[in-house]
Amino acid sequence: MLSLDDARIRASFANVSVRERKNIVLPDPSTIDWEHVDYLGWRDPRLPLVGYVVAVVDDEPVGLVLRQTESSPRRRTLCSWCNDVTLPNDVVLFSARRGGAAGRRGDSKGTYICQRFECNDNVRKLPPAAYAGFDREAARQERIASLRERVATFIASVARD
Ligand SMILES: [Zn+2]
Repeated sequence: MLSLDDARIRASFANVSVRERKNIVLPDPSTIDWEHVDYLGWRDPRLPLVGYVVAVVDDEPVGLVLRQTESSPRRRTLCSWCNDVTLPNDVVLFSARRGGAAGRRGDSKGTYICQRFECNDNVRKLPPAAYAGFDREAARQERIASLRERVATFIASVARD
């Protein structure tokens, strides 16, 4: 994804109050490999049930604050973003308050996502050959494109009324 500076990351959040926006602890930019992420996802160690995601939706960065709605992760649940069938990490149900008037009415939307937002790594693993002549690199590129699309679709559906 295109690289974003701190100000743009903070400004991108669609489902936060002014105070919440100010208090978001941003990730250390030196730890982000922009070329190898389709969305930015991080957690704040001081707020164990909160997660942050930012992706580019229609050429604009849009971020969401997510809340993990169950304390124990599910080991055998498919992440609805990366769809990794090898289940390499825990997946949890996150809930996102919707943006705008819907959010003020208390509407939210939930989805199962990799607990530590491992999706970017998962889709970049070269998949096993499904049959003779299987194009593993093409399959990987397809997974990357699908991840990008699923994240953008979810974020847009939550951020907009
Ligand atoms: Zn995932």
